[in-house]
Amino acid sequence: MNTSEPQIPIISTTGVRRTYGSVHAVTSADLEVGKGEIVAILGPNGAGKTTLVEILEGLRRRDDGEVSVLGQDPEHSDAAWRARIGAVLQFGTETDEFTVAEMLRAHASYYPTPRSITEIVEALDLRDLQDRRVRRLSGGQRRRLDIALGIVGNPELLFLDEPTTGLDAEVRRSIWQLIRRLAHRGTTIVLTTHYLDEVEHLADRTMVLVDGTIVWTGETAKLRDDSAPSIVTFGLRSPVSPADLPTALGEQAKPSGNGRVAIEAEDSTQIISDLMRWAASIEGPNPITNLQVSQPSLEDAYLALLETTHGKDLDS
Ligand code: ATP
Repeated sequence: MNTSEPQIPIISTTGVRRTYGSVHAVTSADLEVGKGEIVAILGPNGAGKTTLVEILEGLRRRDDGEVSVLGQDPEHSDAAWRARIGAVLQFGTETDEFTVAEMLRAHASYYPTPRSITEIVEALDLRDLQDRRVRRLSGGQRRRLDIALGIVGNPELLFLDEPTTGLDAEVRRSIWQLIRRLAHRGTTIVLTTHYLDEVEHLADRTMVLVDGTIVWTGETAKLRDDSAPSIVTFGLRSPVSPADLPTALGEQAKPSGNGRVAIEAEDSTQIISDLMRWAASIEGPNPITNLQVSQPSLEDAYLALLETTHGKDLDS
């Protein structure tokens, strides 16, 4: 079995730039997204996420750079290309007089191979709302309909903008499951969100955009490792004290309350292994008590990353 088939990227961009007058909305965005990946684009307000995503969707022009989405330049795309893409958008009030079922049927009719509407209403818990007019939906129900409309065309590539804003915890979870199932079946997903827990649950890879530039990209789990250290904390059994630690560890050790010691670690495994080796060399009972490793949250790591890029004139 050939497992090394070359994968054509679903999205590939180099040197994308877009300015609005004196505002440099996107200054440098090189990215590559493979089939079935879930990629999150994170960034503070005004970082350029919407501009970048709309360039990929073919809704906005770029000033410069190369963009290929599903093998075509979105600026010169055709209806067949558009039918392969889904986007979860906020709909205008002009659709408010339609019912949920009418909206879904109308949307499905734009696509050559739509998904079954029965399956979609089940998946998004909209079955009992099919005859309700859109204007009578609650915010959360409306968001579920937005998602249903985004996926009813059975897209190969799906853009999700804040997909679970305003939804309750249970519905968020079920939508995350649905998104993961779509990716598992081969749909490529580009997610923009401000919720770090959403990124953590969904995204295989994350890109962080600051001032129009991608400042970090990699596996989501690695964002945490790269941007904020783990902290190893432990107690020391009397009469052993922090002064007895080997120099390399002692220099990094800081008091952490209750007589405990904390060491910030880029590589916590190395610190633990050094500590264990030292503990084994001490006569008597193991001097280390209650060893704990605390991982930073993804949010801590993201904020630490933004702080390190802050010097690069983040205006306002
Ligand atoms: P948010 O998280 O707040 O939605 P974003 O990361 O999506 O922000 P964009 O909407 O892409 O950011 O905006 C990037 C920059 O470009 C901002 O400074 C914004 O004010 C500016 N901008 C966006 N659209 C336009 C426009 N049509 N005309 C002028 N400036 C614009």
